Amino acid sequence: MKIIMLGAPGAGKGTQAKMISEKYGLPHVSTGDIFRANIKNGTELGKEAKKYMDAGQLVPDELTVKILLDRVAQDDCKNGYVLDGFPRTIPQAEVLDKALTELGDKVDFAINVDVPDENIINRMSGRRACVTCGATYHVVYAPTKVEGICDKCGSELILRDDDKPETVKARLEVYHKQTQPLIEYYDKKGVLKEVDGTVDMNEVFNSIVSILA
Ligand code: ADP
Ligand code: ADP
Ligand code: ZN
Repeated sequence: MKIIMLGAPGAGKGTQAKMISEKYGLPHVSTGDIFRANIKNGTELGKEAKKYMDAGQLVPDELTVKILLDRVAQDDCKNGYVLDGFPRTIPQAEVLDKALTELGDKVDFAINVDVPDENIINRMSGRRACVTCGATYHVVYAPTKVEGICDKCGSELILRDDDKPETVKARLEVYHKQTQPLIEYYDKKGVLKEVDGTVDMNEVFNSIVSILA
């Protein structure tokens, strides 16, 4: 099963992708996580990506597409995956479709987690991230047992540089301009599913499970 998570920054794509990944045994592939791991390890890719991420802009398609295609070519992705944060532009979606078509394959579901802009700033300012294991929390909606410490691996949590309100505004603009058109793109392909992302995260997950079942 090949699933794409669509939605604004902070809509809950990552949260839901992790739950899907656990329930269905599919790898969770997040281009944002891959970039952040590269930044943490000081790689050339990380240095390049950081310039765009800090400004709330998208990392150029050439760079992103290569990273993603390499990742999904790995053995654990053979039977499917959940893509979180990719594609984010029409050209990225076209490259993915072309690669899948060459393998006689296709995207099964594109799930749009719908959350209005008004809710997003609140979601992002409370988000806390673990750069070691990729876990995500929220100070109010998904708190850790010990404040500031990852429940899963014990590392210290961070407030992402790009989750500051000024940068979130830029990211929302980029989302509406460059990413939102993907909703129509996947609708035309007949694989679009919409879920209300404003409700409790377990309720969102229930809606997704009924779509995938
Ligand atoms: P969020 O969880 O808020 O949706 P991500 O972790 O997916 O954010 O992405 C963080 C940043 O990484 C983006 O703002 C962008 O700069 C970069 N990025 C991640 N995925 C892509 C992509 N598919 N194309 C271009 N840039 C990307
Ligand atoms: P995305 O990957 O789309 O950027 P995340 O999954 O990282 O979004 O979620 C953004 C923030 O909102 C995180 O702090 C997360 O814990 C929180 N969150 C996710 N889903 C919900 C929900 N349904 N209700 C309230 N908060 C949520
Ligand atoms: Zn962790």
